[in-house]
Amino acid sequence: MLEGGQDALFVTDPSGEVVYLNAAARHLYGFEDRVEQRGGSINLRDRSFETFEFRTLEGAPVADGDRAEVRALRGEVYRDVELLVRHVGDDNPRVYVYSGTLLEGDPPLNVLTVRDETDRWRSERRYHVAFEADPAPSVIARLADMCIVQANEGMAELTGLATNALETRSLTDLEPLHAYTEVLTVATDRLQAGDRTHKVKTSLRTVNGTAVTLLSARAIEVDGQQCGIYTFIDISALESEQREHHVTQDLLSKTVREHANEKDVLAYLAIFDPLTRIPNRRGLDVRLAEEFVRSDRYGSALSILLFDVDHFKAVNDEHGHDAGDAALRQVALLLQEACRGPDFVGRWGGEEFIMILPETGLEAARDVASRVRARVADEVLVGAANLTVSVGVASLEAGDSTDRLFKRVDRALYAAKTRGRNRVEVAPAGHDHA
Ligand code: GH3
Ligand code: MG
Ligand code: MG
Repeated sequence: MLEGGQDALFVTDPSGEVVYLNAAARHLYGFEDRVEQRGGSINLRDRSFETFEFRTLEGAPVADGDRAEVRALRGEVYRDVELLVRHVGDDNPRVYVYSGTLLEGDPPLNVLTVRDETDRWRSERRYHVAFEADPAPSVIARLADMCIVQANEGMAELTGLATNALETRSLTDLEPLHAYTEVLTVATDRLQAGDRTHKVKTSLRTVNGTAVTLLSARAIEVDGQQCGIYTFIDISALESEQREHHVTQDLLSKTVREHANEKDVLAYLAIFDPLTRIPNRRGLDVRLAEEFVRSDRYGSALSILLFDVDHFKAVNDEHGHDAGDAALRQVALLLQEACRGPDFVGRWGGEEFIMILPETGLEAARDVASRVRARVADEVLVGAANLTVSVGVASLEAGDSTDRLFKRVDRALYAAKTRGRNRVEVAPAGHDHA
């Protein structure tokens, strides 16, 4: 493999005898010591020292006569031939770019240079795979003239044209994109001005109606040209969810995290706890209010579990605040795993968590609480010590208010603490109705 970005350079006479090679070239052929073994003489026509296998970038084998150094020895002048080269014993093929030059003279000399472009090739290939697999309509277009260089299937579907028919078209003269000339032009200008990304929310008319869409533009270089990847991400589902205050953990979905615009990020931060990535108290309030209305209307059961980590102050004191944070994340993760169907969890504050169990009565809720308590005690470790939680359980009763429900669950938790911690206590029904 080549080092330090330096091209390997071989100069040979017409017989293939190497008259000069630089350090990168010695390294490439792995013959730092073989030069000595061969009495300093190396002939590029001699294959006995070779440890390579050559393929084209598409994976086709390369015929002997088409090999880059053989062509150079024939006196061919060529530039930038990319080959996939596998060093024997190395599973990862590398991409080397070969150029051959002829120096006139007596004798004439053949010059072969080899550049290692493996890293560039890998990142582009990774990106191309991601681009093609992206279900969202995407194109790559040159910034200079907005001419499409490549389009994916999603874009073919949106425009009703085949991907190859899209190439060479201008981004703004296509249905339905031409109606968005302005946002596309602004995005292109931003990228040309040096911004790496530009995102704007717009609405896109498609055959299926109007969809709220996030246009995401990202700068990328393709074949040495400044281009942009333009992706249209349908966020209408997300938007209507937000209108109905149904903002849930779905917000965390990968696409949204990657493409969220500022407003989405703010909406997210307002209701999610950044440490544990679960809803915070405000996020819980919204969901809880909905569940309350539902229970009230349909008379369905609703239970809540209030968890409080035991002796957490001591955990921080003994293991440090970061270890404490990590433990809280573990607890949050475990609670999330324990959720089924309509259940949801949130961080109530500090080291307190709430789990809301719609359609669940007191006994079933107690079972859930006991299972989770046992799992925390088994699975959550801080250093070598097991973390434990105390849990209060309460269920909604006829004519209840959220306020009364929370008073009861708080009291149940307090009982669990005073009765020794690492245990579950249930709030007796009707206890607080007076
Ligand atoms: P008990 O068993 O009675 O619940 O004891 P405790 O120590 O858990 O209760 P206390 O309420 O006295 O202490 C809670 C501690 O939780 C104190 C506070 O510093 C810590 N804490 C709250 N939020 C965080 C956080 O985000 N990260 C960390 N590391 N600690 C936190
Ligand atoms: Mg507490
Ligand atoms: Mg505590």
